[in-house]
Amino acid sequence: MNDDNGPASTSAGNGHASMTSHAVTGPGAGQPSARPTRAEAEDAVRTLLRWAGDDPDREGLVDTPERVARAYEDWFAGYDHDPVQTLQRTFAEVEGYDEMVVLRDVRVESHCEHHLAPILGKAHVAYLPDKRVVGISKLARVVDAYAKRLQIQEKLTAQIANCIQDVLQPRGVAVVVEAEHQCMTTRGIQKPGTSLITSRMLGLFRRNDATRREFLALIGQNGSGTIHHG
Ligand SMILES: [Zn+2]
Repeated sequence: MNDDNGPASTSAGNGHASMTSHAVTGPGAGQPSARPTRAEAEDAVRTLLRWAGDDPDREGLVDTPERVARAYEDWFAGYDHDPVQTLQRTFAEVEGYDEMVVLRDVRVESHCEHHLAPILGKAHVAYLPDKRVVGISKLARVVDAYAKRLQIQEKLTAQIANCIQDVLQPRGVAVVVEAEHQCMTTRGIQKPGTSLITSRMLGLFRRNDATRREFLALIGQNGSGTIHHG
């Protein structure tokens, strides 16, 4: 079932694991040029409404540009959130707990940077604490901080894992994201029901097969160390 246009799957521990480490660096990367005014943003929506073939001045659409601008503030709230800050507060009184911490089925709502189309799915996030743990809601916030930006799923997955690794410095981090891309399911090749699975394994999750298998079993993936889609 090798559909050239179908979703790729990134298996654990292969060369893709470092795929996007370069994507967030470089001059100006991630730094928006000066933000337009709200009025300019609303004008841009009016232009798109006309491009879609409708009349932005008809009753039903007259407030749409304003609503869309506000919706953008929600959908892209991640640009104003610093996930590094989110992870600063940790707890050391854990009675020596050093087993895997797994947060499963974190809702992912993002938008693809190629079409502005929704990417909807879930993330599974795990780490192996090294004396310090973080509040579990903070892990979900890190997912949100990166998801609520324009993304490609591979970069989103890597950013979540890298941030947790860099800030918490645990013995390992694993992130799996499975999501449906509406740019693929509702347009283009129109393949509803397909989902893309990406993973990023660091530290012990990358080096130790048993650790990785335990994680994959806990999130309901098979235990072979390779993630399949379908
Ligand atoms: Zn897209």
